[in-house]
Amino acid sequence: MSLPRIFGAAVLFAALSAPAGAQPSAFDLPQLPPHSAPTARIQVGSLPVMDTTPAFDPDKATARYLSKIGGAARARSDAYFEGGYWLQLLDVIYALAVAGLLLWSGLSARIQDWAQARSTSRSYQVMLYVAAYVPLAVAASFPLTLYESFFREHAYGLSNQSFGSWLGDLGIQFALVLVACLLLLPILYAVIRRNRGAWWVWGAGLAILFQLFVIVIWPQFIAPLLNHYSPLPDSPLKVKILSLARANDVPVDNVYLVDASRQSNRVSANVSGFLGTARISLNDNLLKQGAPDEVLAVMGHELGHYVMGHALRNLLLDGLVTLAGFCFLHWGFWFACELFGGQWQVRNVSEVAGLPLLAALGTLFLFLATPATNSITRMTEYQADIFGLNAVRKPDAFATVMLKLSTYRKLEPGRWEEMVFYDHPSGRTRIASAMRWKKEHIADPDIRDSANLP
Ligand SMILES: [Zn+2]
Repeated sequence: MSLPRIFGAAVLFAALSAPAGAQPSAFDLPQLPPHSAPTARIQVGSLPVMDTTPAFDPDKATARYLSKIGGAARARSDAYFEGGYWLQLLDVIYALAVAGLLLWSGLSARIQDWAQARSTSRSYQVMLYVAAYVPLAVAASFPLTLYESFFREHAYGLSNQSFGSWLGDLGIQFALVLVACLLLLPILYAVIRRNRGAWWVWGAGLAILFQLFVIVIWPQFIAPLLNHYSPLPDSPLKVKILSLARANDVPVDNVYLVDASRQSNRVSANVSGFLGTARISLNDNLLKQGAPDEVLAVMGHELGHYVMGHALRNLLLDGLVTLAGFCFLHWGFWFACELFGGQWQVRNVSEVAGLPLLAALGTLFLFLATPATNSITRMTEYQADIFGLNAVRKPDAFATVMLKLSTYRKLEPGRWEEMVFYDHPSGRTRIASAMRWKKEHIADPDIRDSANLP
């Protein structure tokens, strides 16, 4: 459970803490066995292939790729990913328990009294409350955070970060969330006081504006706090990446290398930025673990996000979910206060002592909305896959990268499982789409020689 998810959920701002334009993407990969990317053309014996279209069965090719991950590797990635389903449920139960503790113990009401005794300004009272509440909520959630994002990641070989370094990163995230809450929540409570009946509409608007703000400032101001970005050294691959960007009218003149290996073994890349501030970043793991064609296949996907305006699309669609979420907060708060408000000493939503309840309701809503938010993202990821295949024309390199992803994402889920739990298409779906693309292009000179791969 990430810090923002713990309590940014207070006002659904949790949904905003991973800006669509800067999300670390489709290609988060774990540590991998040495890749087996096809780098040489397969000889087809003495068959005269020059004038005939090679036979190519996309279903069989997909099955052959999928069969490359089996046994212990398959069981391990299935276990890691399926365990994540339960952790999502555990996160919600934990958040509800923390909120319940703060409310039923009377601690939340006492913090509000303390803040009111120190200032007559309502906004300043909210800031004082937040300054006490956020550290408390973080401390209460720390054991779960420690298990989920440190011990479990190490147990599955997905992280190589030392405890001190991990704790330092957590501290930075904590500071960011605290600052965001100190700035935003006084505004939200001012909105609530002025618009009692329709506060949730204005609140959702505020949340969406904040999300836009984060997307814009993310590449330059937030991302560098956790990682070092430097221009990718000149290489033939860099030339190809920049050429690919120019060909697709993505306005970048450099490619950045991120030292992601300081946190994990996963591979990722992204094209972030908004309103003309595009930036291509690929991480050092991707560079080390991927063959050049595989890196290009990933970059084609990332460029697709930019060209198709996915940051804006996701902002708008997620905005609808945010609106529904604030509606849920409005009615959920009213309902819970009718039942328990007397015990909590919280009578209406304008009282900051009710913030833990808003946080709990926000977490619950995000959990319930997971199939919707995942599907919004998954659809754009699929579009980016197709864009990348068309732009780069390396379906087999794309397929081998997908196999690498599979070491931490279950490769072959059930149909409903994929719809509910996957924010990217499954490996099977992605490899099948690459092989379908290959089938339709098998007569093309640059594709047909690879007909017998893998
Ligand atoms: Zn993506």
